[in-house]
Amino acid sequence: MDRHYSPFAAEEWDSVGLICGDPDAPVGRILFALDPTIDVIHEAMELQADMIITHHPLFLSGVHSVARDTLGGRVIHEALTHGIAIFNAHTNADQANPGVSDALADILGLTDCIPLVPGEEINQGIGRVGRLTIAMPLSEFAALVSRKLPATAAGTRVAGDPEALITTVAVCGGSGDSLMSVASTLADVYVTSDLKHHKVLDHPREVCALIDVPHFASEWPWVVKVAELVAQELGGTVDCVVSTIRTDPWTTQIASPA
Ligand SMILES: [Zn+2]
Repeated sequence: MDRHYSPFAAEEWDSVGLICGDPDAPVGRILFALDPTIDVIHEAMELQADMIITHHPLFLSGVHSVARDTLGGRVIHEALTHGIAIFNAHTNADQANPGVSDALADILGLTDCIPLVPGEEINQGIGRVGRLTIAMPLSEFAALVSRKLPATAAGTRVAGDPEALITTVAVCGGSGDSLMSVASTLADVYVTSDLKHHKVLDHPREVCALIDVPHFASEWPWVVKVAELVAQELGGTVDCVVSTIRTDPWTTQIASPA
């Protein structure tokens, strides 16, 4: 994991690497998930996995207690009691090539991808911009996004002219509002998550349409990719299983009456 997602590439505020577990313990089965929630720990217990690899960290701010009656503490207790290590790659996986946004770009069929914002090392950086092999109207592209990403309660939201022709696409897995302005100079549409009202209102949507998908959906393709990558690297000596738990916290959407 460190070879593909260097811990040195992580943001200063971030938390990556081994969250709990013994670095010397043998690992026979790894469960891959987006978030280290208690449901994912229970899934790992059922599967008798020795390790969970996630994208999101368990703790980001200072922690002074892992008592069992706290949310994070319960995860740590259950994991350690059942001999399960937890490891995560977060902003270092965003920066990497291939990384989180490459997985999203791949699943949407983009080619010739380059970083939206280049990183310090060549080929690295956050977000990706690439081309569709066949141009299509925004409405058709949004339907493709919705079809390719995992089903969620909230679904796919679109801001822009449904007839606008889409050739170049910018993507950023996770919360990508900070890349909206650079995306608008390079792409016909920007696909990301967690976009807010005022930012969308102020964005030049006639130049670069916006597609907002749930955070879980935009980063899920990476979970599948990293499981394949680790399985391949370990040459079949370790069982790599992708979680079936949807850690998207949103559960229901009521569409407004027509
Ligand atoms: Zn994320």
